[in-house]
Amino acid sequence: MARTVLKFGGTSVADLDRIAHVADLVAARAKMGEKLAVIVSAMAGETNKLVGLAKGAAGDTVNGDDFDDEYDVVVASGEQVTSGLLALALRKRGHKARSWLGWQMRMKTREGHGAARIDGFDEDSGLGAAIDAGEIAVIAGFQGISENGRVSTLGRGGSDTTAVAVAAALGADSCDIYTDVDGVYTTDPRIVPNATRLEKVSYEEMLEMASLGAKVLQTRSVELAMNHGVLVRVLSSFAGPGDNNPGTLVCSEDEIVEKQVVNGVTYSRDEAKITLFGMEDKPGTSARLFTLMARAGVNVDMIVQANARGEGRANMVFTCTSADSAKAEKVLSDHGDEVRFEKMEVTRDVAKVSVIGVGMKSHTGVAETMFEALAQKNINIDVISTSEIKISVLIDADYTELAVRALHTAFDLDAD
Ligand code: ASP
Ligand code: MG
Repeated sequence: MARTVLKFGGTSVADLDRIAHVADLVAARAKMGEKLAVIVSAMAGETNKLVGLAKGAAGDTVNGDDFDDEYDVVVASGEQVTSGLLALALRKRGHKARSWLGWQMRMKTREGHGAARIDGFDEDSGLGAAIDAGEIAVIAGFQGISENGRVSTLGRGGSDTTAVAVAAALGADSCDIYTDVDGVYTTDPRIVPNATRLEKVSYEEMLEMASLGAKVLQTRSVELAMNHGVLVRVLSSFAGPGDNNPGTLVCSEDEIVEKQVVNGVTYSRDEAKITLFGMEDKPGTSARLFTLMARAGVNVDMIVQANARGEGRANMVFTCTSADSAKAEKVLSDHGDEVRFEKMEVTRDVAKVSVIGVGMKSHTGVAETMFEALAQKNINIDVISTSEIKISVLIDADYTELAVRALHTAFDLDAD
């Protein structure tokens, strides 16, 4: 019988009642003969609390990208608790089950602490053999073991990545991510109540959606699934064991027959726009500017440069998260000798709204429809950026919801 990977996020294991419900879901699947590896997150709110404690003890040392390895020891403990609790609940239901921590399954990671990358786990750990023999493996997500044998963690939302990595290594038939929504939607249902659940979404689209603001899956997990061809299903953990719960399948583009031109509308309010007026226009200026940003750890997104009125001058506009914008502002003020400009303006009341769809590769007129829909609502577009399968615009944050609704309708995504 096939190996299957299931994953339950924080809200799905938020308390003992929810864990009991998860145990029922898992037990029902075990009864069908599936060989199960179940990945769990920490109980909802637990990781935030642990991060707070670590910061309280250490001060600024765990604040930046420079994580102390003891930070990981603290924040990884949330998942240890849930893996034990779910194993106990499964045993109570008469199933063979045991918990597996990152170091026990030898989930190897590299590139430091706080946001380590997974290399894969050791087959010799016995995990595969145990599940084949009928024991349910309850795996603590989000954690691994570093090259020098210390506890490591994968960055916020990292249990999704644990699940996909385990599915890839076990050659699992599918990786079912149980969560508090019943699938991936065309947009945020809190903004558009008649948003629709997508039956299927391609890896590429999901990757764009995840990095453009949809919070269903950790971006890294989608990359990993795409690279290893792992079929991921996003479905509800609130449904009962026998309920119809098809969720959304995240798969390769080839498996999607009916390709929509636009499959989703996303938004992000966590944006800032930095404009450098009258920047010196000569070779090397942009290189110096973005080297400074990279060194400061500022993740730059949209970039637009245009000639300015003055001779030998250009205006440069770029965006980053509002959290990064203070760093960017400081670096630019401190390094005026390296990047010369006349004036800097930082705007934080902006939002990025994007439309995404693989069908865009072969269809024209998407930009036209998008800009027309925004114009009809009198929404001004500040910055535009595109890729093969998405168009993003930066607008006044006050108009975010209006823009999302207008685009959802313009691209025929509203449910009947
Ligand atoms: N518990 C971790 C977090 O809150 C990992 C996860 O839930 O995926 O980020
Ligand atoms: Mg999550």
